[in-house]
Amino acid sequence: MKRCKYIFVTGGVLSGVGKGITAASMGAILKAKGYRVTMQKCDPYLNVDAGLLNPVEHGECFVTHDGVETDLDLGHYERFLDFETSKYSITLSGSIYKELIERERAGGFHGKTVQLVPHFTNLVIEKIEKASANSDIHIVEIGGTVGDYEGLPFIEAIRLFANKVGRRNCLYLSVVYVPWINTSKELKTKPAQNALKDLRGFGIIPDIVCVRTEKPCPRSICEKIAAFSGISGDAVVNLPDINSVYDVPFNVLKSGVLEILNDFVGDDSDPDMSKWADFSAWRATDFDKTITVGLVAKYVGNEDTYICVTEALKAAAAHNKVNLDLKWINAEDATDKDFESVDGVVVPGGFGARGTEGKIAAATYALKNDKPYLGLCLGMQAACIAAARMGGIKNANSEEFGATEKDKNNVIYIMEGQKGKESTGGTMRLGDYPAVLKKGTKTYDIYGKKDVVERHRHRYEVNQKFLPQIEKGGLKVSGTSPDGKLVEFVEAPDNKFFVATQAHPEFKSRPLDVHPLFMEFIRSIKDL
Ligand code: GLN
Repeated sequence: MKRCKYIFVTGGVLSGVGKGITAASMGAILKAKGYRVTMQKCDPYLNVDAGLLNPVEHGECFVTHDGVETDLDLGHYERFLDFETSKYSITLSGSIYKELIERERAGGFHGKTVQLVPHFTNLVIEKIEKASANSDIHIVEIGGTVGDYEGLPFIEAIRLFANKVGRRNCLYLSVVYVPWINTSKELKTKPAQNALKDLRGFGIIPDIVCVRTEKPCPRSICEKIAAFSGISGDAVVNLPDINSVYDVPFNVLKSGVLEILNDFVGDDSDPDMSKWADFSAWRATDFDKTITVGLVAKYVGNEDTYICVTEALKAAAAHNKVNLDLKWINAEDATDKDFESVDGVVVPGGFGARGTEGKIAAATYALKNDKPYLGLCLGMQAACIAAARMGGIKNANSEEFGATEKDKNNVIYIMEGQKGKESTGGTMRLGDYPAVLKKGTKTYDIYGKKDVVERHRHRYEVNQKFLPQIEKGGLKVSGTSPDGKLVEFVEAPDNKFFVATQAHPEFKSRPLDVHPLFMEFIRSIKDL
């Protein structure tokens, strides 16, 4: 294909009805036809990035390879399309305004009036072009619903985009919700009609309308929406709720959208969905064996807060052909009984002192009792503190958890040169960093290579002065930064599976290509 084609996704009636997953599923289908597909989120809120957003309200903070803190939608994009998002994949209003205001203050507009149209819109267009470099098809999701005050300049930008690249190179997709009214026992299309009218008012007539419903709806509902909205009946399709997000691509295929997509790209080859089909079948299978994994967490029960971790675990279980029973263990009151009751323990990332003793207790239990343990970022720091305590430093701790310089037993500390504006996230080590694994370690064997690159989001490091005690406690360093200054991986050589990393391997795990640490963690439990 010669030039990039663009799919713009907007939502009507409600937000949170699966606009991103619908769009990513279409991307997965196009990818399965052999195209390079990328995706971008334009979010109308005024934050500059997602780094300071509360994970309880907003879910997990996802980190791109080039070190931008974004929201969890980008994680979905990576999992569905198996590509690496970048700083261009997220465009928040706040970052656009910031850039415009900085340029204005620096005299960059030469005395001109700075306006939403054309300045804001042009900058959005520029970001879309940058994000789509090297792709055949680029999908842009506009957050929120059409008509929101904050979102209007984005809608105008995507309308203008068609003027720039040609309408035939743009496909507009609108996802609308049709509610079921229980008292009158009917589906109501009026809100969807109004949402499409709003969109028309902004100059966009969609090429596809996805009607989201709780249960499959009669064809007449789609026809009605089509008739009232000036859209052809074939272009309005129903996407009812489904159990797993990984079944949505099949729902999309069944809906009849493929013909429209084929027309758009000018190629009616069939997508090769065989890997997706296997994965979705495994996820739905009730296998003979069930394993229980305890997630020692601070934000208990909120899957969104650890979504990359839980998705990686679920995918690893499906590929290992076992059922996964995920047990949430509250880090604040976790006891050995909790750790004993599960087959393996995961300690994910986290910030601040709350709940850390529970995480250290989990690592201590796992070390002593040969319980499979996977430590992710803070999970590695907790493991090092646990081992140092077992190795003789009774009050080993982290500078982050209130232990002071004076204690001199900060096994985890801030290195000189990394100190700075801690409360604003200014000194965080973010994004991809390389590590070198030591031959002869389990970590090396799991990766099957020496040089690895993983994404990071942390501020504290292991103080290598305490390595003798950490080793005495049962942990060995299995990977460091290439200069050897930073500890990147540790493992307990005598345990069945005890591996922890300063990085976040969960960000790079894919449903169809599960990260080896997660695969091996689950395999080690399965083989118990
Ligand atoms: N709070 C720890 C640090 O800043 C760990 C961070 C994390 O788990 N993402 O180093």
